[in-house]
Amino acid sequence: MNLIPLPAFADNYIWLLHDGDAALVVDPGDAQPVQDALQREGLRLQAILVTHHHPDHTAGVDALRQATGAAVWGPARERMPEPITRLSGGDRLSALGLNFEVIDVPGHTAGHIAYYCPALDGAPLLFCGDTLFSGGCGRLFEGTPAQMLASLDTLAALPGATRVCCTHEYTLSNLRFALAVEPDNTALANYFSACQALRHQHLPTLPSNLTLERQINPFLRSRLPALVRAAHAFDAQAIDEVSVFAALRQWKNQF
Ligand code: ZN
Ligand code: FE
Repeated sequence: MNLIPLPAFADNYIWLLHDGDAALVVDPGDAQPVQDALQREGLRLQAILVTHHHPDHTAGVDALRQATGAAVWGPARERMPEPITRLSGGDRLSALGLNFEVIDVPGHTAGHIAYYCPALDGAPLLFCGDTLFSGGCGRLFEGTPAQMLASLDTLAALPGATRVCCTHEYTLSNLRFALAVEPDNTALANYFSACQALRHQHLPTLPSNLTLERQINPFLRSRLPALVRAAHAFDAQAIDEVSVFAALRQWKNQF
C-alpha cells in the first residue's frame, strides 16, 4: 500500500491510499489534485472518506464521484454532499480490502468522525481530519473543551505506532506554541528542528505517529504538572483537567 499526502489549497493534505490499482482518498476539498494523481499513477478511485462537513474537506466530493463512480462515506450527523453512506462511532467499512473502524471525535465540529485501520503493513493508520494535528489540535468551532479532550484521549489511546494522517500542515506553528508551553521539553525541541528541515525542503511533516505526539503535543499532555502550571499562569481559573485544556486551547488561539 502507498500512502501519499496530496497538497491542496494553502495548507491542506488530501490523503491518497492505493495498491497500485485501486485508490481511496480522504477529505477531498478539491478534486483537481486527486484527478491529477489518479492519472499520473494510473489508479481508479474506489472510495472517498470524509471526516467532517467543512468545505476544505468536502468541496471536491461531487466532481470525483461523478468522474469515477467512487463510493462515498461520511459522518452520520453532518450536512454532506449526497449520496453518501453515513457512519458513526463503532461502524466499520471495507475499502481496498482493508477494514476501517469509525471513531466519534466531536470537538472541531459536532459530528466529526475519524477512520482507524488497525493493521496496514505493520503499522495502524488513523485519518483524523481536523481533530488531532501534529503538535496541536483543531479549533473548537462546534464542540466543547470537554468533548475535544475526550476525543483526543480516545485517539491517544490507540497503539503508539499508529500513523497519524492529519488534514493540515500546521506543524511548525503548532510546535512554536508547544515550545512556549513546554520550553524544557527536549523531544519537542528536537522534533521542531527536524520539521523545520523538512519544511525547508518543502516536504510534509506528516504522517506523525502517536508515540511521538504523546511526547510533544501539549493537547495530549495537558494533565502533566508542567502543563497544568503553564496553563494556570495563562489563566488563573484553570484548575481542573477540562479548564486546563480549555486554557491551553484559548492560549493557542491568541498565540
Ligand atoms: Zn475543519
Ligand atoms: Fe480543515
